[in-house]
Amino acid sequence: MFKSEYLNQIFKDISEKHPSQTEYLQAVEEFFESMDFIVMGDPNIEKNAIMERLIEPERSIKFRVTWRNDEGKIIVNRGYRVQFNSAIGPFKGGLRFHKSVNESILKFLGFEQTFKNALTGLPMGGGKGGSDFDPRGKSDEEIMRFSQNFMLELYRHIGPDTDVPAGDIGVGNKEIGYMYGMYKKIRNEVTGTLTGKGLSYGGSLVRTEATGYGVCYFVQEMLKVYRNDDFKGKKVIISGSGKVGQYAALKAHELGATIVAMSDINGYVYDQNGLDLSIMKMLTADTGEFTNKYVEYRANATFGTNPADMWKVPCDIALPCATQNELQLESAKALVENGCFLVAEGANMPTTLEATKYLQHHDILFAPGKAANAGGVAVSGLEMSQNAMHYPWTYAEVDEKLEAIMAEIFKQAYTQARKYTDHRNLVVGANIAGFVRVYQAMLAQGVL
Ligand code: NDP
Repeated sequence: MFKSEYLNQIFKDISEKHPSQTEYLQAVEEFFESMDFIVMGDPNIEKNAIMERLIEPERSIKFRVTWRNDEGKIIVNRGYRVQFNSAIGPFKGGLRFHKSVNESILKFLGFEQTFKNALTGLPMGGGKGGSDFDPRGKSDEEIMRFSQNFMLELYRHIGPDTDVPAGDIGVGNKEIGYMYGMYKKIRNEVTGTLTGKGLSYGGSLVRTEATGYGVCYFVQEMLKVYRNDDFKGKKVIISGSGKVGQYAALKAHELGATIVAMSDINGYVYDQNGLDLSIMKMLTADTGEFTNKYVEYRANATFGTNPADMWKVPCDIALPCATQNELQLESAKALVENGCFLVAEGANMPTTLEATKYLQHHDILFAPGKAANAGGVAVSGLEMSQNAMHYPWTYAEVDEKLEAIMAEIFKQAYTQARKYTDHRNLVVGANIAGFVRVYQAMLAQGVL
């Protein structure tokens, strides 16, 4: 499978040990495909068991979360924190509340987070956590009780210099606020040990927008370097209308693109002349129901009930910003057929391995999530700096730093891609650039 026997052996071992952890195995496989380029030329990697250590979380915590719903019934959920790698800094990565959450998904996310965080150049290790609690349809009171009970266990494992969680799917400002409040009450300290906080209690400006804006800053670099071009006049489609998708749409529009289609779990909405993003913002803020309601405001738009059909819409640029494995081979074929020339992942691993390869083989410019969506964690890192200094930066200062970080991430991925393979292969470039930083830190710190 891989050229290196060392990688083949490790992959065989973890596949036998964790046959049901498909997302985790997928993330490791994608990473190992890039590592062939350097493992063969550097015997120190095998000698120091670097790959074996990288794919095994330093610590994996699983706990019970018990809470009462509005009817007084006692509900039990599972909570997790996977502390993947702290070689370059405290564990850092989001918390996901979604009914699909399990160990495999959190291990894939924590593994990728390690390299993503390394790419930002900031001192942050990788981690991820969450729960199979499903916030959909829950009252505010229920979300608060769950979040507080989740923190009643998680607080033992985190801290400003140990592990700093943030949001992810199902965890936004509201949930972070409830968890942070409980953490502060138990610890009796105000150290900012969660990022994505509200602005009135230690949050950073631009954090809400950061992942979506960051994706566009990254695409901007790709357009400039590969095509001597920019966003102006480009037709863009975006899956997911959550925290990432919404701000990717707003920034792409600000940079001159037309957003012709967006999706959410209910379906997708398409208007060849461009969606009215003020309606998108209003609907997502009011009820969370966007694509199925949009046509009530704009009769010339069309609504389809299958979100995956959005990939058939003709476009120049596609930004998958919803969830893992949402962009499959059939959709990749449709994108190629309909003229798309660039795909950048706003979500984590939204493109399956075979879809990624298909896009690359058809000369589509492809940006992997661990590079393109690193803007969120980058601004989380800046939030940690502001908390430690007890001094907030202005909107313009944070936005400028974010843009510079995304440009630097592109440069690192591009440079490594050029050095080891084809200069357009940012999957290999990003994996190697992230790996090199973590590898150097692990070597320097000895066998741990
Ligand atoms: P949200 O929960 O805010 O939004 C997710 C969006 O995706 C919602 O609009 C949801 O629809 C939609 N969705 C879910 N499944 C599908 C599907 N199969 N097809 C189309 N739409 C779908 O999550 P985030 O925006 O925070 O995260 C999205 C992705 O980005 C995740 O992979 C996350 O790990 C990644 N990411 C997030 C970062 C952040 O800062 N938030 C940072 C880096 C990566 P509905 O609302 O109707 O359920």
